[in-house]
Amino acid sequence: MTAQNNQALAAPLAGGRYLNSGTGQGLQFVDIGHQEYIALVDPKTAFWSLVKKDRMAETITDGNFISAYREKAAQFADEMNMLMFGLKPSAVYFNPTERCNLDCTYCYIPADMRKNGKHMTEEELFSALEKLKSYFKTVVPEGRLPQVIFHGAEVMLVRDAMFKGIGKYREDFRFGVQTNATLLDDADIEFLKRMDVSIGLSLDGHTPEIADKTRADWAGRGIFDKVNEAIDKLRGYSGFNVISTVTTENMEHLSQMVDFLHEREVSSCMLNMLRCTLPGSRALKPDDLTVAGHFIAALERTHELYKKTGRKLVVVNFANILISILAPTARRLLCDISPCGGGRGFFALAPNGDLFPCSEFIGLPKFNGGNLFKGEIGDILTSEPFKMVTERNAEDFEPCRSCAIRPFCGSPCPAEAHEMNGGMDKTGAFCEFYEEQVRYALRLIADGKENDFLWDGWDRDTETTFDAIRF
Ligand code: SF4
Ligand code: SF4
Repeated sequence: MTAQNNQALAAPLAGGRYLNSGTGQGLQFVDIGHQEYIALVDPKTAFWSLVKKDRMAETITDGNFISAYREKAAQFADEMNMLMFGLKPSAVYFNPTERCNLDCTYCYIPADMRKNGKHMTEEELFSALEKLKSYFKTVVPEGRLPQVIFHGAEVMLVRDAMFKGIGKYREDFRFGVQTNATLLDDADIEFLKRMDVSIGLSLDGHTPEIADKTRADWAGRGIFDKVNEAIDKLRGYSGFNVISTVTTENMEHLSQMVDFLHEREVSSCMLNMLRCTLPGSRALKPDDLTVAGHFIAALERTHELYKKTGRKLVVVNFANILISILAPTARRLLCDISPCGGGRGFFALAPNGDLFPCSEFIGLPKFNGGNLFKGEIGDILTSEPFKMVTERNAEDFEPCRSCAIRPFCGSPCPAEAHEMNGGMDKTGAFCEFYEEQVRYALRLIADGKENDFLWDGWDRDTETTFDAIRF
């Protein structure tokens, strides 16, 4: 950690009796669009409180509120420090092949590579897992297993080697598979369930007309029927979720997508904004405020369905924002913290053994940190290409530096910032969308509805640090 960062997160000095002057805590008001409440946030420590609009003046001059917060400030600062600078990698996105049987419109892998690229051999795949196992032993605490997520292009093209790897190393890793689902048969599903492998399927819409617009094979044939079939076969399996990439092509139908998934008893999904790292995908980029409206409507729909049926469909990427506000250290995804988790909480392995901070950077040679088969993972993680990502801090550039919600947004994504907007000191593709998302999350908290959008028992292992959140 740099001295500058240390200072940025330091607890208040002696004095500090008043807000926003002297050594007092810098709390910023945030308009969350709620009739009754406004938020008060310390972006350096991620402390926040919801204050009744008609009690704003009283709250900030109330000595009890300020001294209670001051007592806790050091703990808040420590927690944020740990998240921002103390993480050790515990997962790898393992790309065992360059090839894919599909030709999705927004894919980040060049077409020639997806058609004619390289598969890892069984020997290479085993050797990579062996090397990863030794490395993780040095950083992951005893009793916890690191995670290996087999990840695109299409991992089922190397099914035999991958399944053998899962069988051989099942005591050493928790495994996950991210697949387009078009090649999954009954025996595969049975094997993955038996091995307790988590499964992520990609589907962008609730009808063939919508889903197949962005995801189809090389001959232009859609994938909807196959994925729908796989979803039915996975009904009831708890380690399974559906990932939708939100684009101009499906944003108006997100609420119907939620209905579709809920009807099939899917318990968690992701509605991820399209990554705009490569120019090809930007043609499908939705307008921030328009997509925020559709996204929030879909979240409201999950709530209606929960109230009607008692069964939740958790939108994981949004749930993570709520958790980043309620209990920052309990978050499960690492895009919404700055520096993000790329190269710190996890890293990505390309089929030729090259390591990148995140899959988002595969295909961008500048971010290649070195080769797992030729170098030491620990050295690669501290290489200059990795540092470009692990040292990108929203505290260092505008407008994020002045933005009160930066601890809950994280200013994603550095790959987009670099490739689309010209540098690591720029925002990514969806600043205004993220702003609306955080404001909505705070409104839900003001209304006491947050738990309806989270997994049951999400807070089992977390402590309430400061329980005076609504004033
Ligand atoms: S913000 Fe971008 S680079 Fe960072 S973890 Fe998320 S996708 Fe990867
Ligand atoms: S990307 Fe936008 S919303 Fe997020 S921290 Fe930066 S300025 Fe704030």
